[in-house]
Amino acid sequence: QVVTRFAPSPTGFLHIGGARTALFNWLFAKASGGKFLLRIEDTDRARSTQPAIDAILDSMTWLDLNWDGEAIFQFERAPRHAEVAHQLLASGHAYKCYATAEELTALRESQKAAKLPMRYDGRWRDRDESEAPEGAPYVVRIKAPKDGATTIVDQVQGSITVQNAELDDFVLLRSDGTPTYMLAVVVDDHDMGVTHVIRGDDHLNNAFRQLAVIRGMGWPEPIYAHVPMIHGSDGGKLSKRHGAVGVDSYRDELGILPEALNNYLLRLGWGHGDDEIISREQAIEWFTLDGVGKSPSRFDLKKLENLNGHYMRLADDARLADMVAGRLDFEVDDRQRDLLRRSMAALKPRAANLVELTSGTAFLFRTRPLEIDHSAADLLTADGRRILALAHSKLDALDGWDTEKLEDAVRQVADEAGTKLGQVAQPLRAALTGKKTSPGIFEVLDLLGRDESLGRIADQMA
Ligand code: GLU
Repeated sequence: QVVTRFAPSPTGFLHIGGARTALFNWLFAKASGGKFLLRIEDTDRARSTQPAIDAILDSMTWLDLNWDGEAIFQFERAPRHAEVAHQLLASGHAYKCYATAEELTALRESQKAAKLPMRYDGRWRDRDESEAPEGAPYVVRIKAPKDGATTIVDQVQGSITVQNAELDDFVLLRSDGTPTYMLAVVVDDHDMGVTHVIRGDDHLNNAFRQLAVIRGMGWPEPIYAHVPMIHGSDGGKLSKRHGAVGVDSYRDELGILPEALNNYLLRLGWGHGDDEIISREQAIEWFTLDGVGKSPSRFDLKKLENLNGHYMRLADDARLADMVAGRLDFEVDDRQRDLLRRSMAALKPRAANLVELTSGTAFLFRTRPLEIDHSAADLLTADGRRILALAHSKLDALDGWDTEKLEDAVRQVADEAGTKLGQVAQPLRAALTGKKTSPGIFEVLDLLGRDESLGRIADQMA
């Protein structure tokens, strides 16, 4: 059975690069009927925070990237990591290194001066413990292979070979007995039964080092897929200067829908022919690792916004209304929530995101007399106010309030005033919404209802 995992370090919000890694892992697991696990890599105690953990879980839940079982917290597993380090010591795949900090600094300096790669030289690899001073502190290092080469057949990057001479005997356990990240990842992946490691290609170099631990333990090797990074529009690695990078800002500040962000992130670095709009069901059906591109992808906000507009139009009205309600600065009652829901059909085709959709609903909740925008005030000329008076009497005389009757009445106003429908709609729009643009005027009248509409018109008419 396929088991994938997402292993974020909780040092900040969920970056969209991380979200895409999580999505690929989630899809690959679903596509193969496997499991998707979550591991919080909180071993960096100084930088890991509870708010960051909460933000990551919250963003994943929002993106509907649900993980199987309970999240694993890496720090809690430190005793297990140490146990594995001691097993490697016992089996001769690791050794105690008593080199002092001064010694290692001197080593680095001399390598630097000679323009050699700076790495530990294995000075304790073949020395006996008995040569160390009594009770001296030590670290545990992996005995990495020295000869030959290591090849990884990466599902995205292809076959990659590294000369073992380039691998160093990295530290597994620090002198205080705490495990290093390099050890923890391998032990956790093994214990969680991870079969496929899908992660950013910034970890590709680590994979070769991690394999030394896996092989030392005689554990099955996972299949690797190292996914290229997301770059900004200028080709540089995506960072704050390109705009929002946290999933939460796409949701909160840009008003993006989760299905739009998922679709966008999926297409960013993975393709299925020319398909741009891909539902989750299709994605599960189609997702394979060989569809992941080898080169970095460029983030394109315009594309995301276009996709979002598409999903806005598809979205269920009650759901949109709830999301808008959550963004308003007051608590909506049942009547207002219902009004929001009824307004969605008219408003959502005009909104590219939830920010625009929310501001589009503002006219529904204004209190009389309305504050009229500067540009809308220009529509309330003397003529305009006379037309409003005529409209008021026609609408007031209606014995019903549906769009058909409203349309009839407004057309009659235009006929009687000897003008075009647009000339009636403009002052009406200004009086009813206080703005120059709004949904269709009949929909506005319908949504506001009889009393509110007549009242707002009366406030502005001649
Ligand atoms: N915690 C690592 C990171 O956030 C991921 C490690 C891994 O996927 O193996 O970059």
